[in-house]
Amino acid sequence: LEVIASVEPRIAQATRQELADQRGSLKLIASENYASPAVLMTMGTWFSDKYAEGTVGHRFYAGCQNVDSVESIAAEHARELFGAEYAYVQPHSGIDANLTAYWAILAHRVEGPWLEKMSVKNMNDLSEEEWEELRNELGNQRLLGMSLDAGGHLTHGFRPNISGKMFHQNQYSTDPETGLIDYDALMEQAKEFKPLILVAGYSAYPRRINFRKMREIADAVGATLMVDMAHFAGLVAGKVFTGEENPVPYADIVTSTSHKSLRGPRGGFILATKEYAPSVDRGCPMVLGGPLSHVMAAKAVAFAEARTEEFQAYAQQVADNAKSLAEGFLSRGAKLVTGGTDNHIVLVDVSSFGLTGRQAESALLDAGVVTNRNSVPQDANGAWYTSGIRLGTPALTTRGFGHEEFDKVAELIVDVLSNTTPGTTKAGDPSKASYVLAEGVADRVRAASAEL
Ligand code: PLP
Repeated sequence: LEVIASVEPRIAQATRQELADQRGSLKLIASENYASPAVLMTMGTWFSDKYAEGTVGHRFYAGCQNVDSVESIAAEHARELFGAEYAYVQPHSGIDANLTAYWAILAHRVEGPWLEKMSVKNMNDLSEEEWEELRNELGNQRLLGMSLDAGGHLTHGFRPNISGKMFHQNQYSTDPETGLIDYDALMEQAKEFKPLILVAGYSAYPRRINFRKMREIADAVGATLMVDMAHFAGLVAGKVFTGEENPVPYADIVTSTSHKSLRGPRGGFILATKEYAPSVDRGCPMVLGGPLSHVMAAKAVAFAEARTEEFQAYAQQVADNAKSLAEGFLSRGAKLVTGGTDNHIVLVDVSSFGLTGRQAESALLDAGVVTNRNSVPQDANGAWYTSGIRLGTPALTTRGFGHEEFDKVAELIVDVLSNTTPGTTKAGDPSKASYVLAEGVADRVRAASAEL
């Protein structure tokens, strides 16, 4: 930090403060974690200075031999860790991984066959009319993904997102009674919509998915099954999700982030079958800019960590802790979406406390509990104010929290929420954003958190 401070002291100060804040609060953001010193240090090296567009052995720049080593090692670890036929470790983030995967599926299933039909090898040989026809063909494809309020991600076909504009999209939801995916209803919807791509995976669904059933649905309609395991990659790597709960043997393409439950550097990666591998491998420079070689190196370190027995024990503890957290809420009368959890996420419906998600998130932050507001299925408050808060156990499990600590976390959160009341707007109307946290509660909760 002294080196940084000698150039821009404000950045050194912000970094110091970030460390203090991360240590001094309860980090319950479901997509965050604490990467190891080995992972963090690997990101701060000279690989950051190297350009390496292309792929291993086929670069558009000279002098990439060390990047080739790094990328090969990271891909090898990823393949072996997840039992995949092929791994691509270049995507800079989860969204980049999804866009690369969509492009690869379009290239493999639409563009390639179309060019073959036209007996054309090089796209530049197409006439303007033919080119227009191909573009129309590519733009005319269908994608079916989980809706945002049911727990899906923006990139799964949410209309305002690019994925909702690249494709004719349709979204599936969860059963209004149980909050769970209804596979029979999804089969019917898929048969009617006939997507090219079926996306499974979530950001805020507190349950496991049966990927065998997803495969059956994809097969019934000739869709490519793409699984976005960004959130639960750590539980797959740690062998908590096995058999039908492990997406890798069932999906054509699996996309992921490396920084959430997997506890690596910020970044993305893709696993694919041999069939899709050549298209995915052209992600850079077709979709992605030059790879972040220092981050690929850190992914290799994180994957190596995830192959240990310690990581498996950690992943199991993440899932066990989520159960403890959920039980802690249920025993104190709180309402949870789907009534519980069997992954790393707990979604609390805070409308039973008379609050919006926004009010709950803000009041909790005052008390040093960092969460994020989140829609619940059929949310009456919309995606901005929401009616829920999403909690995750990966970060605090890394800090060593177990059953007792997570029960205490539930107690502290219920303490804050039951001592918060909605505020009013300046005009005196009921507000969805302002709130009043009873005096003394924030200090009480901060003091109790410091003991954990
Ligand atoms: N996919 C899912 C399921 C996610 O939850 C997220 C992150 O929130 C992403 C993709 C995007 O990841 P990133 O922020 O690294 O682009």
